[in-house]
Amino acid sequence: MSAPGTALISGGSRGIGRAAALRLADDGYDISIGYRSDEEAAAQLAKRLDESGVRCLTHRLDVADPQAVRDWVGRTEGELGPITVAVASAGITRDRPMLMMSDQDWQEVIDTNLDGVAHVCRAALFPMVKRKAGTIITLSSVSGVLGNPGQGNYSASKAGIIGLTRALAKEAGRFGIRANAVAPGMIETDMTAVLTADQRDRTLGAVPLGRFGTAEEVAEAIAFLASDRAAYITGAVLQIDGGIVL
Ligand code: NDP
Repeated sequence: MSAPGTALISGGSRGIGRAAALRLADDGYDISIGYRSDEEAAAQLAKRLDESGVRCLTHRLDVADPQAVRDWVGRTEGELGPITVAVASAGITRDRPMLMMSDQDWQEVIDTNLDGVAHVCRAALFPMVKRKAGTIITLSSVSGVLGNPGQGNYSASKAGIIGLTRALAKEAGRFGIRANAVAPGMIETDMTAVLTADQRDRTLGAVPLGRFGTAEEVAEAIAFLASDRAAYITGAVLQIDGGIVL
């Protein structure tokens, strides 16, 4: 079987992106990890991948900067070869009710989560269109599907990602390129580690499966969407949420 190519993963150093990097490496992809500041986490993951014989690179950047994203995509293609899967996982929260939200908290979340995802998708799409091959997977959230009080900025960004992903699916389908979103519910990562015991209990009460999900469970869905097993799936929003949206 021929090698599946290179997976480019923003936010690949921690949490869901990291789990996706490990899972896609298992499927034979070379791995390009984008991260913002936690060098240690990126280096540890790169070491683990290196030791298991996976070709990988790590690249420090701010996904909100479109030129920085283009540089990362160019470096990845130069060093690892054609990007066949792009996973846009980098994201942040700055939670506060809208009435109390600062302009900065609004803008940082939109810049990172929405603009950042758009930059990654656009930069990766160019070489994919030239080759008429590739697939894009974005990280939305149940917050973008339902709207979440205290997360106006985050919910807006994640709803925007759904619109963007569906538009991309329609634009790029004729080039044989698929674009899908995953919309996780509550997943055990650093992002949700900041919740108070009270917030966790209240959230868990709304999850039919009665537990938070794992990053590996989301990564499994990402690997599926990346693969030929999902060859006829595009524009989908796959909820991985233990039933919280029901
Ligand atoms: P984590 O906080 O665990 O990891 C975030 C990752 O994104 C890190 O690698 C971080 O790099 C990177 N990152 C953040 N900002 C930037 C930036 N400006 N430029 C480049 N990289 C950046 O998050 P999760 O793994 O929990 O979340 C991943 C995605 O899944 C996010 O988009 C999130 O919104 C979404 N999601 C998560 C859910 C959850 O319950 N955890 C639920 C629903 C959706 P560094 O460490 O260097 O800062």
